[in-house]
Amino acid sequence: PGPDPHTGRDRTAWDAGTAVIDAFPEVGEFEERLGEITDGGAANPYFRVHEGNIRDTTVIGGRTLLSFGSYNYLGLSGHPAVDEAVHRAVDRYGTSVSASRVLSGERDLTVRLERALADFLGVGDCLALVSGHATNVTAIGHLVGPEDLVVHDALAHDSILQGCALSGAARRPFAHNDMGQLEHMLRLNRPRFRRVLIAVEGAYSMDGDLVDLPAVVELKKRYGALLMVDEAHSIGTVGERGRGVGEFFGVDRSDVDLWMGTLSKAFASCGGYLGGSARTVRWLRHTLPGFVYSVGLTPANAAAALAATELLTAQPQRVRALRRNSELFLRLAAGAGLATGTSAGTPIVPCILGDSVRTLRVADGLFTRGVVADPIFHPAVEEGLSRLRFFITSEHREEDIGRAVSILAEEVAAAGG
Ligand code: PMP
Repeated sequence: PGPDPHTGRDRTAWDAGTAVIDAFPEVGEFEERLGEITDGGAANPYFRVHEGNIRDTTVIGGRTLLSFGSYNYLGLSGHPAVDEAVHRAVDRYGTSVSASRVLSGERDLTVRLERALADFLGVGDCLALVSGHATNVTAIGHLVGPEDLVVHDALAHDSILQGCALSGAARRPFAHNDMGQLEHMLRLNRPRFRRVLIAVEGAYSMDGDLVDLPAVVELKKRYGALLMVDEAHSIGTVGERGRGVGEFFGVDRSDVDLWMGTLSKAFASCGGYLGGSARTVRWLRHTLPGFVYSVGLTPANAAAALAATELLTAQPQRVRALRRNSELFLRLAAGAGLATGTSAGTPIVPCILGDSVRTLRVADGLFTRGVVADPIFHPAVEEGLSRLRFFITSEHREEDIGRAVSILAEEVAAAGG
């Protein structure tokens, strides 16, 4: 074994490929792609080490930068009341519940969290799990099987696709937010399957647009389908009081069979939830594999999410500040002639740049000038639609938003068409 071509470090026999997985062709292809990014002189934009909490700013390598790269939409990660609740929870309950809640039993924090979430969502009951991604996988895997069909928005998150794969159900994507195509698929396929599950997201995280929920609900009813809405990015951020797309569109909460969301974004914690009727949630609580056979939420995570839910309930003005900032960012970016795609009504604003080299160059330029935003490439988005993605928070100051958009416009112009 000689030196590694990318890192220059000496490889041990183990590193050099004696492990069977090392010889997989996909591992080789991946190493090549990673090399293309770093050989081009750009710093690897992933796995950066942040030296503290990320709100409107972050510290990297001792520098304070303006951050548009975290889902801390309401600044509640790092809020003193949330931190304090976590300290108290750890003092009382320790750091783990050490087993599935079915066997190890409940802690009052988790019971209170699920009640608070159910009230916040306006549903009968709610179940909290340790991961948002795992929540989608296990829920879809449990709801449908090989005699069933899942129709989902073409931009659906990976966790929805993994859930479909696990379930063995047939899967058909419809073009993003294309209600005509969804209708066509339901009309064509409904009679051929036992159950049809429609899976959509409240807000789409690559484009920053909303689902047309009233239209989806109408179709779900017309064709007798099930409906699951992933509110990872819309809960806490959309609707007058942050209660998501149900509130925004005034949809009857019981028209959606399962409201899914994560605790890792607006709720300043880590985990996922499923909200629905008391009967549905009772069944899930006793049978859902990713819940029954997995450890319960840690006391710290339950406490953080509970404190965040309480803050969000008591302080809806946080949501208004977030909306004001999001609208300002979008207006300035569009005014500067940047390609913001279909972004509207969410705190996610993409700047679509096309090819990945240009995107990396702009990301690098922003970073040098003190602004952090995620570069996104294929396969996360379609080939040729590489972009920088900005997550706005309630904590950003107007002047910082103005400064970030000016720098962005300059860097985009400098990177050429
Ligand atoms: N659903 C969507 C739409 C997401 O964007 C994400 C993560 N970004 C998840 C589910 C998974 O959530 P988590 O990161 O909390 O596991």
